[in-house]
Amino acid sequence: MKLLPELPEVETVRAGLEAQMVGQRISKVLLRRDGLRFPFPENMEKRMVGAEVGAVERRAKYLIIRLNTADDWLVHLGMSGYFSLVNDRGSIANYEPLKHDHVLVEFENGFIAVYNDTRRFGVMDLFPAGRENEHRLISHLGPEPLLDSWDASVLAKSLSGRKTAIKVALLDQKVVVGVGNIYASEALFRARISPLVESAKIVGKNGINMRSALLVSEIKKVLREAIAAGGSTLKDFKSVDGTLGYFAHSFKVYGREGEACVTNTCVGEVERIVQGGRSTFYCPVCQKK
Ligand SMILES: [Zn+2]
Repeated sequence: MKLLPELPEVETVRAGLEAQMVGQRISKVLLRRDGLRFPFPENMEKRMVGAEVGAVERRAKYLIIRLNTADDWLVHLGMSGYFSLVNDRGSIANYEPLKHDHVLVEFENGFIAVYNDTRRFGVMDLFPAGRENEHRLISHLGPEPLLDSWDASVLAKSLSGRKTAIKVALLDQKVVVGVGNIYASEALFRARISPLVESAKIVGKNGINMRSALLVSEIKKVLREAIAAGGSTLKDFKSVDGTLGYFAHSFKVYGREGEACVTNTCVGEVERIVQGGRSTFYCPVCQKK
């Protein structure tokens, strides 16, 4: 099952790129088409060549690669984008591109970051350094789930008075970013909360309560566990094919329609429903309304 890159995948890619790129200078950029989901920025090659990478950060599912120039480099993997780090051929001139290799970035130390994206829903842009909060794709985004500042009281504020089903609300990027379809189902299962519950009911009348606190904690845990699983694949990424960010997962409800609920004492069966056009998997027996 090949899955969309979700926050844990993007975080794994971030860590992989960070390990290779930080402190390295870009010596060549080759764009093999005019753009991905949007056209590439003007003079992208010229603006990147000579720049040294200072840091590789993440905001929601966007990678923000800090350059020591007037620009920072923004990357979104879209639905099928991935980076391969190639370091045995030395230069772009010797590299034989695969189908859908759209962007090649060569570094002075000889490795090449190759961006491949079959469906081309990915994004690459350059923006004024440090000013991602003004970028049209980022300015509207809500809180990061893994920051300590995102807690039950923040969630309560964003859910209070909302009649939307909790699963749908968790995919709203203004409520919280990057939880994604899979981890929303998984976290709700772990918190024993039905995906159909009205959002406002989770927070109750006085804001935080046991359920909202548990939900926040399970969202953080399920994302951290997935990131750790991705991190463990990073250690030997060179021995695979240098491809960053896609790794095997084990889910408790996602993709398990018709299977017995994994909760020991539960006789329920995992069901699939569609909410907001997306599949939700849950156990109607142990996830309470
Ligand atoms: Zn169950």
